Amino acid sequence: MTDALSSGGDAEAEPDRDCPLCPRLVEFREIWREREPGWHNAPVPSFLPADGPDAVRLLVVGLAPGLRGANRTGRPFTGDYAGDLLYATLSRFGFANDRFDARPDDGLELNGTAITNAVRCVPPENKPVGAEINTCRSFLSATIARFAKLHVVVTLGKIAHDSTIRALGTRLADAPFRHAAVAEIGDLSVVSSYHCSRYNTNTGRLTEEMFVDVFRKVAERLGTN
Ligand code: SF4
Repeated sequence: MTDALSSGGDAEAEPDRDCPLCPRLVEFREIWREREPGWHNAPVPSFLPADGPDAVRLLVVGLAPGLRGANRTGRPFTGDYAGDLLYATLSRFGFANDRFDARPDDGLELNGTAITNAVRCVPPENKPVGAEINTCRSFLSATIARFAKLHVVVTLGKIAHDSTIRALGTRLADAPFRHAAVAEIGDLSVVSSYHCSRYNTNTGRLTEEMFVDVFRKVAERLGTN
């Protein structure tokens, strides 16, 4: 854990269901609460292993909830395409069981791993603006700080990467985003990857093999391969 993050607590890591800090996202949330009252439609909490925060050695940081994915189901990467590749890969390396079925009640469990998003509320067009990323970083910082045994952070996409690097108190110039790059920051390894979105896999920017290679690096660092 780096000095920049030594003061966060559990209560600071999870925004209130009606977090008012980003007006544009609050307005979007209200629209979808009206349209789809059965959906989650709120900041999506981090997904933790059954053994709790003290078991977390790996943290995966995504961008933001997808409208019909985590914003609908309330669990990160659950309900749209991005979760298929992420959870299959986590399962392959033993960071999750193999029960993922895109539903919060599918029996999926994480092992020593937590998953969160740089921005907790769904943004229009999947694009948060800079002020929203910066505002929600207080929750990301507190999330990183709550895991006393955290050793590796995987960042999915440039926005998640840059916000994580800033949360760790490091200059972006010292840890620029590049697929499969590893930045050593204090006692943390930050491993970057292109986001596992349908767009990136359809266009070939990210292949399954490339994504597996990222998690092979993670497993090496954690001594679990
Ligand atoms: S994105 Fe984060 S800071 Fe902004 S309203 Fe949602 S929970 Fe609050």
